[in-house]
Amino acid sequence: MRGLPPALMVDWTESYQPHASHGGHGDDDSTLEKTMAYYRNYQQRRASPEEIGAWAQMFPAEYAWMVAEAPRFEFAAAMVQALHQWGKLTEKQFATVARLAAGAAERKAAWLAKKAEEAPACEVAAIETAFGKAKDAGIKWPKLRLGAFTFSPAGERSANAGAVYVKRGDVYLGKVLQGRFQKSRDCTTEDAVEIVDLAADPATAAVAYGKQFGKCAVCARVLSDAESVARGIGPVCAERYGW
Ligand SMILES: [Zn+2]
Repeated sequence: MRGLPPALMVDWTESYQPHASHGGHGDDDSTLEKTMAYYRNYQQRRASPEEIGAWAQMFPAEYAWMVAEAPRFEFAAAMVQALHQWGKLTEKQFATVARLAAGAAERKAAWLAKKAEEAPACEVAAIETAFGKAKDAGIKWPKLRLGAFTFSPAGERSANAGAVYVKRGDVYLGKVLQGRFQKSRDCTTEDAVEIVDLAADPATAAVAYGKQFGKCAVCARVLSDAESVARGIGPVCAERYGW
């Protein structure tokens, strides 16, 4: 931590002897006032939000690390406090924060790389082809219900453009991106195996869905006419999806 400001290095409580050597001259009173003011100012020193904001903007990675770690790491909490008091860190403090933040970032990158490597291969070419045809047929947000899951394409302007999302009801289970299924925390290993399996042959899985649940895998309407029931999918939907 930063040392005390120079004025407080002097032990003014001992050096100040009122009405003794100077006979109430007045100079000492003003010195005491000044020292007291300095001390109050030191105690109450608070960096302005602008100072803190400017620092955070200059060192975004270090700032994010400090704030994220503060609740569980005393050093980080002390650095957040120092920043809020002084609007900056000392060189030494900053060097330590930068080193720790870089280490944490490295570990996170390694973890992400490992996770991507562990993601099972998942072939979604057939689903993508079907979604492409559906879009050509005027369906803006195509969807497929396969087994217990819903598959849908990420929006073209989304950060995940090109990915296929997988959900169970409203629960997000993961996405298929660049040939791999990246599962969410809510997705079990069994789910993942099933998802990879269903994604490989969506036309067959859609028919199986229709026969099992009596509903169209594309539009979720109840299959009522004889042809739909026999096929396991609504003929109009099947055609739109290129099946
Ligand atoms: Zn349908």
